[in-house]
Amino acid sequence: MQLLKQRIREEGVVKKGNVLKVDSFLNHRIDTQLLDAIGEEFYRLFADAGVTKIVTIEASGIGVAVMAARYFGVPVVFAKKAKTAQLDDEFYSARIHSFTHNNDYTAIISRKYLSAEDTVLVIDDFLANGEATRGLLTILDDAGAKLAGVGIVIEKGFQGGGDKLRAEGIRVESLALIDSMDWETGEIVFRE
Ligand code: 5GP
Repeated sequence: MQLLKQRIREEGVVKKGNVLKVDSFLNHRIDTQLLDAIGEEFYRLFADAGVTKIVTIEASGIGVAVMAARYFGVPVVFAKKAKTAQLDDEFYSARIHSFTHNNDYTAIISRKYLSAEDTVLVIDDFLANGEATRGLLTILDDAGAKLAGVGIVIEKGFQGGGDKLRAEGIRVESLALIDSMDWETGEIVFRE
């Protein structure tokens, strides 16, 4: 998606440790027009996939998921990062290692909001090693839900998570796929 790549080139800040900051339009201030275009693009890609629900993870996935969901006309369910008190059998859960915070947390989704009747599009803001996405896929498996595919705003391809999922036959569509980035020069190279 050219518009997104342009915004990443203009406003993205490459940090040490393979972290890309896009706080000016995605992770802090949200550019609603850009997110709307992103939502429309996910709809174009997955319109025929029979999606009944969009699943994401709090917090940054929610804005993107909601914008996309308006095009699909389906609800969004976001996995919450659990407080231990919530951990009972009313919830599906998965342990996830956070790339940005370098710690583990438990993501939970209520059994009320996901079932074997669902065909799910998983959406997230970033894909790096794939831990967050895999956690959500574990929850979908537990629920018996069908996976339509995974929609990612920015994939850092050099971290390999996306290609591993593709190798397993999962449809992963990333709107901007970064092949390399250099925190010293700020250079970002996209996969075409
Ligand atoms: P993964 O689980 O695929 O390793 O990492 C994806 C998750 O970590 C995303 O949900 C996102 O919140 C966060 N993340 C990973 N890399 C970056 C990054 O370079 N920038 C930002 N802002 N978030 C990232």
